[in-house]
Amino acid sequence: MPPTDFVPRPYTGPSYQQVEQMKGVYMPPSITNAYKKPVLLTQGHMQWLYDNDGKRYLDLFGGIVTVSVGHCHPKVNAALKDQLDVLWHTTNLYRHPKIYEYVEQLAAKLPGDLNVVYLVNSGSEANELATLLAKAYTGNLDIISLQTSYHGYTSSLMGLTATQSYRMAIPVPPGFYHAVHPDPFRGAFGGCRDSISQAPGSCSCTGECISTDKYVHQLNELLGNSVPAGRVAAFFAESIQGAGGVVQFPKGYLKKAQELIKKNGGLYVADEVQTGFGRTGDHFWGFETHGVKPDIVTMAKGIGNGFPLAAVVTTKEIAANHAKAAYFNTFGGNPMASTVGKAVLEVIEEEGLQQNSKVVGEYFIRQLMDLQKQHPVIGDVRGQGLMIGVELVEPGTKTPLTTSKVNDIHENIKDNGVLIARGGRFNNVFRIKPPMCITKQDYQSKVLRCEPTKEPIVDYGKTSLFEGFQITLENTILFPAGGGQPHDIGWLNDVEVLQVLRKGDEALHFTREPIDVGIEVKQKVNWNRRFDHMQQHSGQHLLSAILEKHHSLPTTSWWLGADESYVEIDSTKVSEQQINATENYCNELIRAAVPVSVKICKSNDPDLNEAHTRGLPKDCMETIRIICIGDIDENMCCGTHVSNLSQLQIIKIIGAEPGKKGKTNLKFLVGERVTKTFQRMLEREKALTGLLKNEPTKHEELVQKLQKNIKTTNKNLQNVLIELAEFEVNKIKGSTPKPKYVFMFKREATPEFNRAVLKGLEGEGMFVLLVSEDPDRAKEGQIIIQGPEEHCKALGDMITEMLKAKGAFKNGRFQGKASDLGAVNKCKKLVEDYFNKLT
Ligand SMILES: [Zn+2]
Ligand SMILES: [Zn+2]
Repeated sequence: MPPTDFVPRPYTGPSYQQVEQMKGVYMPPSITNAYKKPVLLTQGHMQWLYDNDGKRYLDLFGGIVTVSVGHCHPKVNAALKDQLDVLWHTTNLYRHPKIYEYVEQLAAKLPGDLNVVYLVNSGSEANELATLLAKAYTGNLDIISLQTSYHGYTSSLMGLTATQSYRMAIPVPPGFYHAVHPDPFRGAFGGCRDSISQAPGSCSCTGECISTDKYVHQLNELLGNSVPAGRVAAFFAESIQGAGGVVQFPKGYLKKAQELIKKNGGLYVADEVQTGFGRTGDHFWGFETHGVKPDIVTMAKGIGNGFPLAAVVTTKEIAANHAKAAYFNTFGGNPMASTVGKAVLEVIEEEGLQQNSKVVGEYFIRQLMDLQKQHPVIGDVRGQGLMIGVELVEPGTKTPLTTSKVNDIHENIKDNGVLIARGGRFNNVFRIKPPMCITKQDYQSKVLRCEPTKEPIVDYGKTSLFEGFQITLENTILFPAGGGQPHDIGWLNDVEVLQVLRKGDEALHFTREPIDVGIEVKQKVNWNRRFDHMQQHSGQHLLSAILEKHHSLPTTSWWLGADESYVEIDSTKVSEQQINATENYCNELIRAAVPVSVKICKSNDPDLNEAHTRGLPKDCMETIRIICIGDIDENMCCGTHVSNLSQLQIIKIIGAEPGKKGKTNLKFLVGERVTKTFQRMLEREKALTGLLKNEPTKHEELVQKLQKNIKTTNKNLQNVLIELAEFEVNKIKGSTPKPKYVFMFKREATPEFNRAVLKGLEGEGMFVLLVSEDPDRAKEGQIIIQGPEEHCKALGDMITEMLKAKGAFKNGRFQGKASDLGAVNKCKKLVEDYFNKLT
């Protein structure tokens, strides 16, 4: 998660368990939980949300596309606080300035004569009012919406909303009809849409899509069969379907549908509850993308950034017919609501949030398209700006992914600290609609410096020489080495980053190529390596905590290696029983999916005493980062960690070794490393099985047998060699005339054999030279010289030089190691010549 300076307040409300219990008692059962383990959100700041444990979430849903400019946006907050002290409420039967200032600004955002503004309290209320306006104006009663649409949840709107999951088994009011869903991914006629991402295998028409006429034909069939001729009141459509799963219609559909409806006497109502206020990036309103101008526009959600506020905007002419009866709205557009609405409009303008939605949304969609290539479970990626949908399917089909699988992925994303929503007819579409203040600055950064460097690269303790560049960025997502965790590797655009080092409060990125100073670069981290480090590092926190708490075995340091890691324990011994108990308990906690969260404290925070800080460094920053594993452990740390122990998968202690004086190193593996190591062991075992031609359970027995056999064989060989030596000695002694010298080169001779020969020839007055070869090293071996001193003196130096031998004379015998037996024949000749000359 990218860093933020924001520090949430400590939470002091009812506990998670208390809230859980209260929900069961007081909340209607129709309000379901979004997650198996629901989140209790207690504070928000811009795109961030915090739960009761202080865990931070990236909010990619904005409370159902409602938080448009950011949670507790300072400008909106300030405006509301100011208004709170002036006037809360009158009624719009009177006049108050805020509502007038606001409606003027809002109307200015709409095209043409759309400038009569009704302020109400919710989207449902807005759509209900719109049905009334359309009926009053046209005098017609029938209203058409699209299949899979959502327009509200009041009993009179249940017919307008065309999604089965909202339908109760009671009749809906008459006069609602649902046209065929013009869905490029699931619809019968396919189609292409206004997005950088198209449905797989779709057409790519320039201008209007060829499928549009087919869907419009279906709408015409509905009008021709179910509605009195030319007597339709309105056609309602979201500009991009929201709850329906971010469905965009084929290009040109809304335009043609509006023309057809108009011909049949009806109005076109654009439901901009989710798509309005700049979210789609290219335009302020979603309908503008379709090149249409509605007769009525309804809006809610993002209009108030979470404050209850909604609106219906129409023309003076349409609104005029509504004046035939009395109308008022108690809360709609009261001073507080109007103040918030005005501040939200101004923030969108001042902070360029529409443009930001376009830039970040496009980036986001492209990243999702990359994911789609790697993961066939992603059937479709679609959307515009920050209105994004990801439809999950059974890989290789269009069959919606089973709910339980979608649930698991959804839960996992939440556990990783990201909140997204679900939608679509099959509840298999992830909806990503974050506050529009979300930035990509967290991944994009500016190059501040680029300098040549010759500092070496150190990876898992191995140093290699390096010559290249060190790059400083405005901010980085790449983790520099620290806290026992090795550095990340990754890319800046396409340039590889081989090492990241912390220097003071800066991170240096080592690359082979230079990068121009001042340009923006896209950062990418090698995620496999990072996640592996997160697993080992979080595993270390867990191991150290349990060893200390349950066994009084404190950790003094730790090491994360390329294959194995270890914790250094302040004890000379760790028993087998302690190891097993620790491993079992750690794995139990992993299976219990204990959350891991980050708590930020000020350095003078009294809470800090709880944390196991091991002494703060002298240059300690003002804020301290504490990693909490449930209520099991708190530890000050700057590294990267998993957000739930379940992500460790498994922990395995693979051995205890004596470490530095008085310490023991406990070697361990976490997650993927366990399977990788197991795989290597399996391969070794397979190789051994091939060699031993026996099943693995018999290996030990067989090897023991082989070792015993070798021992017996060696013993027998020994005896044979000694007999052979005696035989050789007797042969020499028995020959006439008795030889003056013996030259014996037996490659396979053992020390025992040589000893026996020398002993047998001792005192015979013969010069003896024995040469044998080392069985493991060709051309190397042993030489032994024994005999009368005069001969030894005359020949000794020449022989040792020839055979490149090292050794010493001792008790009238030279014993040494020869390193070049290649000259052994020359040596034999030398000895022969020497003794021939003597005679
Ligand atoms: Zn097309
Ligand atoms: Zn850590």
